[in-house]
Amino acid sequence: MDLVFPKLCPVCLARGRIPAGNVCPDCTTEFVDLPEPRCRDCGGVIDGVLDVCAECVRLHDVRPWEHAVTVYRFGGHARHAIHRLKYGGHTFLAPFFGARMAENWHVYGLGTPDVVVPVPLHWLKKCLRGYNQSELLAREFCRRGRMPLGDALRRTRWTAQQARLDAAARRRNMKGVFACRAKANVHGLHILVVDDVLTTGATLAAATDALLAAGAASVSVLTLARG
Ligand SMILES: [Zn+2]
Ligand SMILES: [Zn+2]
Repeated sequence: MDLVFPKLCPVCLARGRIPAGNVCPDCTTEFVDLPEPRCRDCGGVIDGVLDVCAECVRLHDVRPWEHAVTVYRFGGHARHAIHRLKYGGHTFLAPFFGARMAENWHVYGLGTPDVVVPVPLHWLKKCLRGYNQSELLAREFCRRGRMPLGDALRRTRWTAQQARLDAAARRRNMKGVFACRAKANVHGLHILVVDDVLTTGATLAAATDALLAAGAASVSVLTLARG
């Protein structure tokens, strides 16, 4: 029963009988999905008359994917909870976030992809952290949407922290950082890449480039938040 109705809200840790993949009623009001209309290229809010946002017009060359969906604006409660998932070991947040991603992909996405691929961490970073948050999100997403999870991507080198870099520097920093695994056959497939946050898009662009170079038919991206 504890698996179906955990005893604690994964966000505020309040006691209560909460259905798996959910949060308590108080937290539900704090986590609000992005409003419509949404930008086709980043999943964020549209701020003009086009079907893409102003930043996606400006960063057009960092959008090699076909379509993007995201759930939250990266701020406030969502930002805090994502930091807990990413750096605080609070992996018990993944079922809630994965459920939100599944619901948003169902409404705003492009149907069922052939395979869902999380953005990989460098093996040493994953070793130090103990897990890859994007992999946890992708696994929960796949479980809910009954979609196949793959590990087609690998990281070819360690990258510097991106937080202080601008868009152009991030792109340079990420260029060629991903490659397709030799055993992964992505030829002709429609692939959905999952990551935690889309900021400039440099990481997801590098992941998309690697998959397209290996013969993928198309790549879409799904993130938890738009930075
Ligand atoms: Zn709560
Ligand atoms: Zn956009």
